[in-house]
Amino acid sequence: MHPHTTMQPTSLLRSGVYPLLIDGEERLAASGRSFAVGNPATGRTLAHVAEAGVEEVDAAVRAARHAFDTHWRKTSARERSRLLRRLAQALDGKREQLAWLETWNVGRPITTTRASLVTMLDGIDYVAGVAQGIGGQTLNVADTSVINFTLREPYGVVALILPWNYPLTLTISKLMPVLAAGNTAVIKASEITPLSTVELGAAILEAGFPPGVINIVHGPGATIGQALVEHPLVEKISFTGGTATGKAIYRSAAERIKRVTLELGGKSPLIVFDDADVDAAVDVAVQDITRNTGQICIACTRLLVQHGIADAFVEKLRAACARIRIGLPDDPATQMGPLVSRAQLERVTGYLDIGRDEGAGPQALADLAGRPELQEGCFVAPTLFATAGNAMRVAQEEIFGPVQALIRFGDEDEAVRLANDSRFGLAGVVYTRDAGRAMRLCQALQIGNLAVNNAIKATVDAPFGGYKESGLGKERGIDAILENTQVKNVRFSMR
Ligand code: NAD
Repeated sequence: MHPHTTMQPTSLLRSGVYPLLIDGEERLAASGRSFAVGNPATGRTLAHVAEAGVEEVDAAVRAARHAFDTHWRKTSARERSRLLRRLAQALDGKREQLAWLETWNVGRPITTTRASLVTMLDGIDYVAGVAQGIGGQTLNVADTSVINFTLREPYGVVALILPWNYPLTLTISKLMPVLAAGNTAVIKASEITPLSTVELGAAILEAGFPPGVINIVHGPGATIGQALVEHPLVEKISFTGGTATGKAIYRSAAERIKRVTLELGGKSPLIVFDDADVDAAVDVAVQDITRNTGQICIACTRLLVQHGIADAFVEKLRAACARIRIGLPDDPATQMGPLVSRAQLERVTGYLDIGRDEGAGPQALADLAGRPELQEGCFVAPTLFATAGNAMRVAQEEIFGPVQALIRFGDEDEAVRLANDSRFGLAGVVYTRDAGRAMRLCQALQIGNLAVNNAIKATVDAPFGGYKESGLGKERGIDAILENTQVKNVRFSMR
């Protein structure tokens, strides 16, 4: 047996079916239904999770509405922040368990799941702090017989629908501003990776939130997700996932003019000029396809490289990828693990075939042959499309795997044109030592999250969101708290 065969200490996994959380109680589905979730590194089943029915979705939404009306909307911002900090403490006590659950269920290396928990807990503290400063305004209107003021009020029940790539981090970053602004929540985790969200539910109970403030349901998107989106008591939907699903949710939400925040897909450019720090730019290109095996919405997977340095860039990229340690995610030395599921593996390998047919020249940047310990899991080698064109499908569609498409450009105008020639506008990185040019690109790029001479990072203290088909609205930063409020205007007569 290989020394790093994935271990599963039973003390960190529950012995029975993982439950739903409704109205302050962990419970199984009334139907008795459950579904299996797996470990993508081994191909084995990890646990079973209760599958909600439409009646459980209804119970969760009603509990959230009741908690909103009777309690949560009346609590002070200070009290809400106090509870958020208690939640951070409860999660801190479960750090090791949460890191292992994400490693086993998502396939992300243990060193990275541990590190992201530390960042996440720090983020809760930020939201708990700034939320206390949010409020309305008094306005200098022309009519001096009235005092005109605004109130910032919560919406009510917000539905949070999550993808599988960073289950806990994305759930927490959505949930904190929703709660801090005074809304209650029903969470639906991805049916592929629900385990850490169940333990988030346990931490919510331990922190002492009033019953119903946060509820968690599990099940497929087409039934349970859809039921949540359509429920008449859900006022707002906060969704992170694929663009096609986001469009379907947006259409359903329009029926009742529900508010939406949509964080969707991307095909982000990394633009590297001849005068750039090439090593630093290569490092971003490698990180973006190997960290979480390239399953990162903000990954720069269109490499736009100026002619003069393109050959050197490719050589350095090849050498850097060869140094990445691909392996089982429970090995602390591993830097890149498997894809999340067999379906995702088929999707990525399907794009390698598409690229081959398009003439994009796929070249594997690692050799996984002779690695018997990886044969049962959803592993794929990092791959470069060295002769891609911007119009090819592999340069226009989100692959969500360890795959880069490289396109060469001549001058600044061409770089901007290529970068903006995409239906997405989530993220982008510019590498140049010319400050004037960098600033011109900051203005010209139709992209929601930009980085100049460093990697893109979604941090808790700055707004995050996409342009064009990459999304609608902002998460993170103060903007996220404001987005979870609606503004009421009051003309108050003193006569
Ligand atoms: P997905 O769209 O398939 O599923 C996301 C969630 O939506 C899941 O919980 C799923 O069950 C649910 N869902 C599916 N159909 C639904 C429906 N009709 N109604 C309601 N809910 C439904 O996405 P995924 O495959 O889980 O995640 C990968 C995608 O997420 C990628 O496209 C990636 O770019 C995107 N993503 C975006 C961001 C961002 O911040 N912009 C972050 C992470 C991931």
